[in-house]
Amino acid sequence: MAEEISSKVFEAHPMNGGDGPNSYAKNSIYQRRVVDIAKELMNKAILEKLDIDMSNTFYIADLGCSVGPNTFYSVENILETVRSKYQIQGQKSQISEFQVFFNDHAENDFNMLFKSLPQNRQYFAVGVPGSFHDRLFPNASIHIVHCSYAIQWLSRVPEAVVDSSSSAWNKGRIHYSNSTDEVIRAYETQCSEDMECFLHSRAQEIVYGGLIILTIPGRPDGTPHSLSQANMTLQFLGSCLMDMAEKGDVSEEKVDSFNIPMYTMSPQELKAAVERNGCFSIEIMSELPHQSITNTISLSQLLASHLRAGMEGIVKQHFGEDIIDELFDLYQNKCEENASIFKLGKSLSFLAVLRRIAD
Ligand code: SAH
Repeated sequence: MAEEISSKVFEAHPMNGGDGPNSYAKNSIYQRRVVDIAKELMNKAILEKLDIDMSNTFYIADLGCSVGPNTFYSVENILETVRSKYQIQGQKSQISEFQVFFNDHAENDFNMLFKSLPQNRQYFAVGVPGSFHDRLFPNASIHIVHCSYAIQWLSRVPEAVVDSSSSAWNKGRIHYSNSTDEVIRAYETQCSEDMECFLHSRAQEIVYGGLIILTIPGRPDGTPHSLSQANMTLQFLGSCLMDMAEKGDVSEEKVDSFNIPMYTMSPQELKAAVERNGCFSIEIMSELPHQSITNTISLSQLLASHLRAGMEGIVKQHFGEDIIDELFDLYQNKCEENASIFKLGKSLSFLAVLRRIAD
């Protein structure tokens, strides 16, 4: 009998689909700007570090692509850079075609993605459902993997944090970052297991000399979890849910059993994971310049709209639809009230480019 490709079940929390006012498509400008800022370094890495035996078809995969439009922008940039690299090297005739694999959980709004594929695209598009914590592609079949603002999602909530008999029970909070050492350790362990699965799978799928390009919402090395701005946004959400529990709008037990499977890595943690895996060299690990996109809307509006586009699904799954509007209104107020605390936090986006080295 043929070997099963995947038998594992993964948690999936897709971004808001469609193109309505709360959709990811309309509320992901921050992520788009990160790709913009990373572009120059990314292109340099492709020009200088990609080192593969050429074939007629070049294969690119975007993991955690969501619904667009950011993914289209990223893959077009990669494609253009690869094309110019081989033109410069006088090998134009060799790559004649590009195939792009758009990956996300099966629950992602792939219809929206397919419907909005650019009409003038220069690649064959394929949707690949499944978790990037597992195998997605055949052996040695991919030249470049891109994954932007997605690796922070863990494959699941660590079991101990929802077990009331465990010392790592995360009562009254929805995230590890403002919690006990036990809870922090449970999340750290989950992240390191997940990175092992991610890198192990990619090591089999990427050709020698091929690249993984990651942009990551991170935490500066040495910064406590509680002072990372990415984490603070989730602490505020937890605090809104506790306010609602106090008013009796949601039950406290429901809040106790709710945790967000997200982890904000530091560059050092990623480096350690890559070294443990041993199949990739680190070609670039670089902090990206800070971006300011709050010229037209306030910081609290931006945080609320982006958080809602990403978190509405997971909140709805646990608490039901009725609390959503109230929760995100409260959230925007909470961000306004805590703006000065938030500004004391540290934020970091970073780019990592890894190259598959020969075994
Ligand atoms: N890369 C896009 C989307 C980022 S949002 C951009 O930059 O705009 C993060 C996406 O990662 C979501 O669509 C989510 O469903 C997806 N994701 C999270 N964990 C995943 C996993 N294990 N496998 C595949 N996709 C995942």
